[in-house]
Amino acid sequence: MGMQMNLIISLEEFPEEGRYLSGELDAAVFGIDCDALRSTGPLSYELEVQLFETELMVRGSITAPFELRCDRCLALFPYTVELDDLAFSYDVKGKLAFDITEDLREEVVLALPSYPKCEISDLECEINDTFGDFRLDKDPQTGVDSAAPSSESVWDALDQFPKK
Ligand SMILES: [Zn+2]
Repeated sequence: MGMQMNLIISLEEFPEEGRYLSGELDAAVFGIDCDALRSTGPLSYELEVQLFETELMVRGSITAPFELRCDRCLALFPYTVELDDLAFSYDVKGKLAFDITEDLREEVVLALPSYPKCEISDLECEINDTFGDFRLDKDPQTGVDSAAPSSESVWDALDQFPKK
């Protein structure tokens, strides 16, 4: 069984007390596959959905795990985007269902750091900022100075998102 690719909220016979939705969307929704940024798991969501006449209100939290490359030491490290207190509202007049996949994806993408560094995941970076280039010159053993920094940034990767 393939994983869920879209989160489509059915508006038919919508319960007055609202709906609670939880589940996972396939990591493929991010469309990310590059050296600097890799999606390592599904987008998990826990949402409360309510319908007030023609207004659809969506609130809740989403998380998604990634692997990022540190801008400084070029090491890969895990990073999880966790967003609580998300809130969306939509005019759904005349609709029988509403797809919120795109908005969930966008929230996660916007939460990704544009200049990832080990510290954001509470990891110690091999290259300490306070030493700066000095240490690179003095300690070729790290091998870091031979590693060519990639021209590919997180934002380049995001530009490759399939556009609707
Ligand atoms: Zn680092």
